[in-house]
Parts: sequence; structure tokens; C-alpha cells
Amino acid sequence: MKTLVYVDHFKGEVQPASWEALGVAKSFGNASAVIFGSGLDALTKTAFEFGADEVLVADDPALADYRAEAFASTLSALASSRTPDLILLPTTTRTRELAAMTAMDLNTGVLIDLTGLSLDGDKLIATRPIYEGKLNEKVVCAGKPVIATLRGRAFPRPAQDKSKSGNATKVEAKAESPTTVEGYEVAEHTVSVSDAGVVVSGGRGVSNNPSLTPPAGMDEKQTEIWRAREGFKLLGELATVLGGAVGASRAAVDGGYIPYSHQVGQTGKVVAPDLYIACGISGAIQHIVGIRSAKLVVAINKDPDAPIFKVARYGVVGDLFQVVPALTEAFKKKLGK
Ligand SMILES: Cc1cc2nc3c(=O)[nH]c(=O)nc-3n(C[C@H](O)[C@H](O)[C@H](O)COP(=O)(O)OP(=O)(O)OC[C@H]3O[C@@H](n4cnc5c(N)ncnc54)[C@H](O)[C@@H]3O)c2cc1C
Repeated sequence: MKTLVYVDHFKGEVQPASWEALGVAKSFGNASAVIFGSGLDALTKTAFEFGADEVLVADDPALADYRAEAFASTLSALASSRTPDLILLPTTTRTRELAAMTAMDLNTGVLIDLTGLSLDGDKLIATRPIYEGKLNEKVVCAGKPVIATLRGRAFPRPAQDKSKSGNATKVEAKAESPTTVEGYEVAEHTVSVSDAGVVVSGGRGVSNNPSLTPPAGMDEKQTEIWRAREGFKLLGELATVLGGAVGASRAAVDGGYIPYSHQVGQTGKVVAPDLYIACGISGAIQHIVGIRSAKLVVAINKDPDAPIFKVARYGVVGDLFQVVPALTEAFKKKLGK
């Protein structure tokens, strides 16, 4: 089976699930990494290190910024000339758009956010969660090539072999596009919850520390937010010790405790960390759908009947303001930090 694997990156910073997609492609046969952008030598080398048999590169200043029209034209022209059986992409905001536009150009189907992909004879069988993760659907795409995006951390990442290298194969950029990027504005820079191996998340309970005295002059809402932000600092310390990211429930985001980019769940991000620690989160279904792929869930909640305990492997019934700092100290000792 011939597979093209689109390596999604922002200015050379790769979405790690791209390498997971490369691992899946290798397990089916020949895997060609596809990289678009400008100044791609380092990325090309990394693609070889992760096991690409070939690296197809459209290195053109006109592709320095992602624009769906130009990238889809370049990818579909490449696919038309190479006739792969499969095109894999990591699931990201950009690739949902890119995969769909490329599928339109190639008159084929697209399977988004897969958590499983296997080969039965020459038939590719995809697994994707539906109904808020309550069911896993098995899907087959009759079109060719099959285009699929893979959920981050749902597939193993191949080992990186730094001794590997190779020469890029140049491909033509189709850079014409009705849109241009005028600039970027950094909203926030933290570890992304989608890629993190550990996520420490906080909910409405993070604001519930009446023993914390706020600065004078704050009204009730301001006090709640101030307390919650103090609480999120504790979660941040635990996340830092574990090399992870901070997540949040929608109640915490709506309450103004933390920006939306941290929200996990149906209307936030779907995460798949090795460890998910839910602090002061009740476990509403809309939150749970975002953590179904987490490998180990730990819940800290005052209420022994909180639904979150039904999905947690380990549960601590207690006040997060005592439990979280104690965990941070214990991990610091254990990890020698
Ligand atoms: C269409 C739709 C989409 C939605 N999308 C999302 C989504 O993407 N993500 C999401 O999270 N929600 C989402 N929601 C909201 C969801 O239904 C819940 O309202 C929300 O998840 C509740 O957040 P919470 O668990 O933080 O708050 P609560 O339900 O209020 O729970 C707070 C918890 O904190 C505990 N607690 C309080 N104090 C402490 C303490 N000191 N120590 C320990 N525990 C404490 C309490 O026992 C309680 O269990 C959505 C809702 C709808 C209708």
C-alpha cells in the first residue's frame, strides 16, 4: 500500500501526531512524508528520522503561511501524479479543512479524527467515535485515495532514529490563493492540552476555597475569579512538575477563570493523555466525551457521588486545595525536582 503522510506544522513546529500517522503508514507499506512550507531542511531530516521512505517537499516562500486553497491544490496535484492508496493527516484545525478540500478535488471521501485504522485484505477499516464517544463506528471509504485524519495520541509514535537522513524530492507548489496571511498575534503560549502526555484539569471547584482572603475591594464575582485563578496556579504547579498542560471544564472557562483554549470536552478539545487529573470537576457527559481516550483518569472531588468517579481509575474524595499541593510535593520528591 502506498501512503502519503501530510506533516502538519506551523513555521517548522510539527504537530506530533504527524509522526504517529507516519508510523501507521509504515505499518501498511510504503510511506512518503509530504511537507509544504518554506525553509524545510530540518523538517525533512526529521521526517526521515521518523521512518519516511521518501520526503516530498514543496518548499516555496509562497507556502510560508498555511492557506487552505493553496495547500489543497498542491496536495491534490501531488496525489493525482503519485496515485497513493491512502493519504493520512494528523487531526488538527487546519487539516480538517485541508483534508476535506483535497477530497473534493480528488472526488473521494474523507474520514475525520480516526482512533483506529486497520487493513483487512486490501480494504481499509477505519474506527471513529460517534455520539459523543459513546459508540465507535467502523467505516470503509469506497473512493480512492482514502483520505483520513488521525486523532493525536491514539496511535503509537514511531521511535526517532537521529542517524537517518535522505534527500528531499521536490514537488511543485500551487501557491495561487485568494487569501493571504497579514500577520499573527500570539494569544497565549503554553503546552497544548491536545498534545500533552499529562493534563491537570480544573473545574468550578477550583474557585471553592473560602479560606483564601482576596485583596480588599473585590465584589463577589471578582472574588470568585481571583480565588479560582489562585487555585489554577496550584494546578499549574502540578502540571509543571509532571511536564504536562492545564485543562479546564466549561464551567471554569465560562466563569472567566481560564481562557477557552484550555477547555476540554464536547465544545472544547478532545484530549488523549497518558494521565488526566480532574480537579473539582463533576464529570458532566459533555466533559467526559473529551477525555474518553485518556489512558488513566484520576479524579479529586469533595463529593463522593460525583459522576467523574465513574470514569476515573483512581479517585480521591477530598478538598483539592489540600490534595493537589500534597501531590505536587510528592511528585517533586519522587521525580527529584
Ligand atoms: C451543548 C453543551 C456543550 C458543553 N460543552 C462542554 C465542554 O466542552 N466541556 C465541559 O467541561 N463542559 C461542557 N458543557 C457543560 C457541562 O454540562 C457542565 O456544566 C460542566 O462540565 C460542569 O463543569 P464543572 O464540572 O467544572 O462544574 P460543576 O458541575 O459545578 O462541578 C464542580 C465540582 O467541583 C467539586 N468541588 C467543589 N469544591 C471542591 C473542592 N474544594 N475540592 C474538590 N472538589 C470540589 C464539586 O463537588 C463538583 O463536583 C457543555 C454543556 C452543553 C449544554
